[in-house]
Amino acid sequence: MTKMCIICGCSEDEVDKMFNFPTNPEKCASWQQCMGFAGIKDAGFFIRKKICSRHFTPDCYTDEISYTLTKSAVPTLHPAVALVKKEVEVD
Ligand SMILES: [Zn+2]
Repeated sequence: MTKMCIICGCSEDEVDKMFNFPTNPEKCASWQQCMGFAGIKDAGFFIRKKICSRHFTPDCYTDEISYTLTKSAVPTLHPAVALVKKEVEVD
């Protein structure tokens, strides 16, 4: 199965790097909030979900060759507010 970005739906092949959501609950929560997923209460929803490098500003990386995220990196670009709203309405 191709890994897809939960935010923009792009595949691994289209982006520089794909990241897992953090396993640390607090950090995962702040990522969710920044990406407009704050309404989703089920923390398990994000396990094994991916987010691509398009959602991080350059200063989130320790270096831009390996795309290693800094410990405080939080995705802030292109949040999925519209997408989540749509899913909630369907439910
Ligand atoms: Zn993405």
